Amino acid sequence: MTEIARAATRYEPEETAALRIATWYLVRRSLDFEAPATLFWAGRTYARALLRVYHVLSIREFLTCIERVLGTSYDLNEDVVVAAPCPECAGFPRGYESVCDATRGFIHETLAAFGREPHKVREAKCAVRAGELVNACAFEIRHSNLH
Ligand SMILES: [Zn+2]
Repeated sequence: MTEIARAATRYEPEETAALRIATWYLVRRSLDFEAPATLFWAGRTYARALLRVYHVLSIREFLTCIERVLGTSYDLNEDVVVAAPCPECAGFPRGYESVCDATRGFIHETLAAFGREPHKVREAKCAVRAGELVNACAFEIRHSNLH
C-alpha cells in the first residue's frame, strides 16, 4: 500500500498511471456498481487497523503518522478534509465520477474514532474528474446535526 501511494509522487506520471490501471483501477472496474459501498467500507476498515497500530491522543497526531506512512497529508478543517496528493485516484484515467470511496471511508472512520462521527463524507472535488493525474481531492464533511 505504501509503495502504491508513494508511486504517486516518486515516479513519472506515465509510470504512476500504468501501475494504477494495472491494480486499483481493475479492482474498481470488477466491483462495478458495488465499488462505492465496498471501497468505502474497505477505507473504514483500513483506518480502524491503523488506529490500532498508532496509539495517539489526537486526530492531528494520527494524521501526522499517516502522512509519514502514506505520503499523503490530510488537511483537516471543520467541514472539509483535503487529501494531498490523494492516495486513491493518483494515476487514474480521467473520469466523470468521483472515485475516492476508500478515502471517504478512511476519513469517516478517523473522524468517528475521535468523537466526530459525521453524517456523511462526500467527495466535493476529485482529481480524476478534473483530469489531473496526481493531485489533491477534497471531501465535504456533513455533520449529523445539519441534515
Ligand atoms: Zn482522489
